[in-house]
Amino acid sequence: MPRTCIINSPYVAKFKVGVVGCGNVGATAAYAMLIEGTPSEIVLYDLDYKRAHGLELDFEHSLSFVDYTKITSTKELDGLHDCDMIVITAGARQKKGETRLDLITKNREIFKQIIPKIAKVAPNSILVIVSNPVDVLTYEAIKLSRFPEHRVFGTGTMLDTARFQFHISEKLCISPKSIDAYVLGEHGDTSFPVYSSANVAGKPIMDFEGFDQKAADETYQKTKDAAYRIIHDMGFTCYSIGMVIKEIMVHITHNSRVALPLSVMLHDYYDHSDVCLSVPCILDSEGIAEVITVPLDEKEQEMLAKSVETLKGYQ
Ligand code: NAD
Repeated sequence: MPRTCIINSPYVAKFKVGVVGCGNVGATAAYAMLIEGTPSEIVLYDLDYKRAHGLELDFEHSLSFVDYTKITSTKELDGLHDCDMIVITAGARQKKGETRLDLITKNREIFKQIIPKIAKVAPNSILVIVSNPVDVLTYEAIKLSRFPEHRVFGTGTMLDTARFQFHISEKLCISPKSIDAYVLGEHGDTSFPVYSSANVAGKPIMDFEGFDQKAADETYQKTKDAAYRIIHDMGFTCYSIGMVIKEIMVHITHNSRVALPLSVMLHDYYDHSDVCLSVPCILDSEGIAEVITVPLDEKEQEMLAKSVETLKGYQ
């Protein structure tokens, strides 16, 4: 008699993650989550089912080496039923020379097809938007899903912030984990660094020996150019965004209440409303628990307004 196979995750009773789009980003994010071992199930969906199914088979053969996570793939979006969190990476990606905003027409059409169906099959899920332009598509996903806003957000400038922290850390020779500095606004060409509050253990970064406005500008330029440089060399980016998605998943499962720069709907944030872009948010097991109005100096407020104006032009 065949035995019924029920093996549980050692961490959570149930936390089912859906990955929609199993290209470079979706596959890498799923792999990072699998290694972390905290979801009880990962379900893979791609328009090209073979990608999702091949990934499922490949992942299954790593289960001897990680904490158990059930891996499935699905031909239909119905397979996402019961998901607690769904990561959307479906769609076109930037080619050499393209900006993120150039992807809008193709990816907006894809969102129109998939988001209402996803909302129907997984009405209680948290949607994490990754496809670009992530801010415009987060706005679309909120409207199309009709979910409460706290359950739909984009990875936004969490990746830009990690890049910024790394480049500052190189200059200061201090771990990126100790660099408290954010990039906010559009995940794109109008993002901006918040130097006015950037610090290490409370000491402003500008007060560190050898770190001045010129050094700061260099670190930010490297941050801004990162995606273009990686796409030029490798054709796509996937590992750092995969880690970003894994971090978000972990903080949701652990109800961490960490502060992260995520793309959310603004309500009277420095007088800006009805647009999605990144500001620091508190993330918990329900999604966005709080949006933090951080101090911005006059120049930073101008840059925020520029991001808002740019993104509103695409809504
Ligand atoms: P990719 O081309 O490797 O993968 C995209 C996948 O989406 C493909 O497998 C394709 O079959 C699938 N797809 C297309 N239409 C679909 C649909 N209707 N339903 C389900 N699946 C569908 O691209 P990638 O490198 O994985 O990038 C994916 C997206 O993520 C792009 O928009 C890219 O710009 C974005 N991205 C965002 C960030 C960020 O920080 N937010 C970082 C890197 C990439």
